[in-house]
Amino acid sequence: MCGRCCSNLRAGTGESGLTLFPDEIHLFPEEKVRPHLAKGVDEPTTIFTYQYTDNVCMHLVDNMCQVYDDRALMCRKFPVKLGANGLTFSPGCKAVLNLLRTSKTLSDDAEEVQAALVIAERLMLFHRGFADGEVDWRFNLVSDAWEKMNP
Ligand code: SF4
Repeated sequence: MCGRCCSNLRAGTGESGLTLFPDEIHLFPEEKVRPHLAKGVDEPTTIFTYQYTDNVCMHLVDNMCQVYDDRALMCRKFPVKLGANGLTFSPGCKAVLNLLRTSKTLSDDAEEVQAALVIAERLMLFHRGFADGEVDWRFNLVSDAWEKMNP
């Protein structure tokens, strides 16, 4: 409930916002949602994910999420990260510090872990399902343009 994760959605370079799957874009107004990942040969033709463009989430009020029960998968998995090294925690998260005081691990059936696994499964389908000549594209919010991810 510190709101930190929901107040730094464009942390780092600011090139990406909160990732949304197509079935989650209804959570935000159309003008605040841009494409994120896509596939295509010479241009992006099949959009896979979208992104919310604000740095501070419009649904954060008094450090509480106003759409908590409906929040996106990316919100549900925080502070869990699933990468090449398996499950890790986002650094600087107070919730993690509290968790580590009471337990060394997060159980496999925790909502955060389950959400991270669903995201990984969907991303795997995206990265594996390429037709001939197709590459992946990312929409950069700073340059306001598509760029090839692996040129
Ligand atoms: S939808 Fe809720 S949990 Fe997700 S970033 Fe916004 S305030 Fe945070």
